[in-house]
Amino acid sequence: MKAVAFARTGGIDVLEPLELPVPEPGPGDVLVRVRACGLNHLDLWVRQGLPFQIPMPHIGGCEIVGEVARVGSSVKNVAVGQRVMIAPNQGCGRCAECFRGNDPACPEFCIPGEHSQGGFCEYAMANSRHIIPLSDSWSMVEWAAVPLTFVTAWSMLHRHGRIQPGDDVLVQGAASGVGSAAIQIAKLAGARVLTTSGNPAKQKLAWDLGADVVIDNTQQNFAEVVKQETYGRGVDIVIEHVGQAVWKDSLKCLAHGGRLVTCGATTGPKVEIDLRFFFIRGIEVIGAFMGTRSELDQALKLLDRKLMRPVVDRTFPLSQLREAHQYLEDRKQVGKIVIEFP
Ligand SMILES: [Zn+2]
Repeated sequence: MKAVAFARTGGIDVLEPLELPVPEPGPGDVLVRVRACGLNHLDLWVRQGLPFQIPMPHIGGCEIVGEVARVGSSVKNVAVGQRVMIAPNQGCGRCAECFRGNDPACPEFCIPGEHSQGGFCEYAMANSRHIIPLSDSWSMVEWAAVPLTFVTAWSMLHRHGRIQPGDDVLVQGAASGVGSAAIQIAKLAGARVLTTSGNPAKQKLAWDLGADVVIDNTQQNFAEVVKQETYGRGVDIVIEHVGQAVWKDSLKCLAHGGRLVTCGATTGPKVEIDLRFFFIRGIEVIGAFMGTRSELDQALKLLDRKLMRPVVDRTFPLSQLREAHQYLEDRKQVGKIVIEFP
């Protein structure tokens, strides 16, 4: 099968086309003919090098959607030809954390494309319990824009942010994967959404997704606008993945008892906190790492009913995976980038 992979970590030029054997499913496995696979910042970080060992040559891509090509002898839940998604958050299903429903804390937690081989190839494989049947509500490309971003945003708002109807929520980066999902999830939860974005196309997307206040952060200081819009109170939740560049002002936006939930650091990971501000205002800073399978299922149910929608900027063929990485690194996207297979 065709794959684009890297044998050493580094810049975009480490990505190389490869011809690899099609994986052989064991009794409980499902082989998926990949039709679309979303690209994420996670793929850039994995390519640049992680502090742990990953299989080499390494195939990235954790948002895998396609058709079942073959099933192992004991697989009962899906059939050949069915449209499916491979869950990006894979717990072992038999440890205490998995039974508690906290699968990201599973000692064997696995993200395909990070800890194991991903979907930037023609065939991907997973245990049948990680295979999720898909409806016709969305195309393969649209479904591939969903799992990582929606499960992360869902977990950030509901589990970590403890969102309530009437809350004010600031979503940083309206047109990012997590941002565009978070706007929709927060609106469905009955919140008022304020969001930031630096260009007209991204601002239009934010309005289309239902944001109540769209702040052009190249023209205005977003913290000042947030204070005006909330009559000086601040917001209950900040959804953050930008890091260094917005950290200080993001904290300023929090109301007393507010929560800043962060899942990324695209502009840099080192930040400062003034502890006096922290305890006097009773704020919480909460780290979020993906989400649980039940949170993914919840988000998928609402997408299936078209109460939320995937946001795709554009697709690239597998042969242009380098260009796709560059496009994401340059932050050109308005929504998600998806690798599409013929
Ligand atoms: Zn487990």
